[in-house]
Amino acid sequence: MKAGEENCLFCKIIAGEIHAEKIFEDDWVLGFLDIRPVNPGHILVVPKQHSKNIYDVPEAILQNMIAAAKKISHTLKRAVGAEGVSIHMNNEPVAGQVVFHAHIHVIPRFSNDGFTLWHGNDATTMELKKVGEKVRGAMEVR
Ligand code: 5GP
Ligand code: ZN
Repeated sequence: MKAGEENCLFCKIIAGEIHAEKIFEDDWVLGFLDIRPVNPGHILVVPKQHSKNIYDVPEAILQNMIAAAKKISHTLKRAVGAEGVSIHMNNEPVAGQVVFHAHIHVIPRFSNDGFTLWHGNDATTMELKKVGEKVRGAMEVR
């Protein structure tokens, strides 16, 4: 394990030092059951190579993660009768990230499962235009 990853929970799961209910594995990615599932079959897709979150995970690895999430989404329909799936990623504490090893939540959804996502607020055309200009102007900056 490289420096800085010694105390990473998900690195320990990947190394087999901590048990997890593994579901999917390839050369780049591991998928395992979340210990506190929103719904039965809630799976975390993580890169085998440590990254903190969306900001530092290499794009090629992210592609493998989302490809695994897609595969798992299909599987959850057959496996647990999911009617749909929510794909979610928390990045940084302000967004609710608690484990600082990048992960995508794949959450099977069922009618009336009570899991609510965000509630948006109406925005005016002028507000959207202003924010649109700001974000477009910053698009090239990393
Ligand atoms: P975050 O809020 O960082 O996006 O989510 C971290 C997720 O990791 C939570 O949903 C939590 O239930 C899950 N988790 C935390 N510790 C463990 C663990 O030891 N094993 C497994 N399988 N999942 C964990
Ligand atoms: Zn890690």
